[in-house]
Amino acid sequence: MSSLGLYELGHTGLRVSKLAFGASPLGNVFGNVKEEEAIASVHEAARLGINFFDTSPYYGGTLSEQVLGKALKTIPLPRDKYIISSKCGRYVDGFDFSAERVTKSVDESLERLNLSYIDIIQCHDIEFGSLDQIIQETIPALMKLKEVGKVRFIGITGLPLKIFKYVLDRVPEGTIDVVLSYCHYCLNDTALEDLIPYLKSKGVGIINASPLSMGLLTEAGPPSWHPAPIALQSACLEAVDYCKRKGRNISELALQFALQNEDISTTLIGMNSVEQVKENVKAAIEVESQQSDLGILEEVGKIFQPVKNLTWPSGRAEN
Ligand code: NAD
Repeated sequence: MSSLGLYELGHTGLRVSKLAFGASPLGNVFGNVKEEEAIASVHEAARLGINFFDTSPYYGGTLSEQVLGKALKTIPLPRDKYIISSKCGRYVDGFDFSAERVTKSVDESLERLNLSYIDIIQCHDIEFGSLDQIIQETIPALMKLKEVGKVRFIGITGLPLKIFKYVLDRVPEGTIDVVLSYCHYCLNDTALEDLIPYLKSKGVGIINASPLSMGLLTEAGPPSWHPAPIALQSACLEAVDYCKRKGRNISELALQFALQNEDISTTLIGMNSVEQVKENVKAAIEVESQQSDLGILEEVGKIFQPVKNLTWPSGRAEN
């Protein structure tokens, strides 16, 4: 079996697997996951060529970081062969992007992850904070952590795409290394595409998260907290059903669709079982070796046409 290729992440010099491991499910965000299964999933991913793992102190109130940290103790890779991203500023008790909190937060994450450095630290869902505070206070605090070697690269994450341009237009080039966008490059929403030329011009690495629209594009359906409007949830149900009738699994199709975009360095999919890791790696390898059959996309596209790029509000009104 061929293996997953590695791709440049912007100007970081990091080479990431096109398929990456989203660890929010390890915080029981999508239902309970046994710790042994969670750890085995991380190890299986590493064994099959996934070298990029993303978490946050917010996921499961630090549980995701703790479980990932346990898995990293025995991961079958040397430290310089895997890349860990975590986040700061969003916690189960709310948002705090102050220099003091994010500085302390990185130390706490390092301890939970059993690491001496975090490869990428990202300001988590910045649309919920003051973007000017992110620029003037949070990023400079993270730059200090970069200088002392606690983090290697800095990123920002969030749902509304305009927040990325607001921040990137106001910081010196090279200050922000990566951007993590979610739910905007998947079967039902490709809004990220329009921002790609700008992001490339800024030299930032592009991380696409949630290719299954946080569970909407799965046969099991989304979690009860999913914020999508009813019209979008209904279209997803229809698309799941259509794929089933055609003998296709919508999750495989959705992942392969996202992985096809060559401008996106890596796609983070949330995984909570060894079986899902195997399925998703297989789907990714099919895309890389051009063995995937995406012929059904046109029909699925018709189902999504009335709700194409339909999203939901996130963050402060002024952002
Ligand atoms: P996702 O679209 O990746 O969907 C995850 C869900 O799909 C989980 O329930 C998972 O069990 C299920 N799934 C995975 N593979 C499957 C398969 N083959 N068949 C059926 N179901 C399958 O959503 P996500 O987990 O929210 O996003 C991926 C990752 O991206 C997160 O774990 C997180 O690391 C990151 N992320 C970050 C932000 C942010 O920074 N604001 C937001 C969203 C996601």
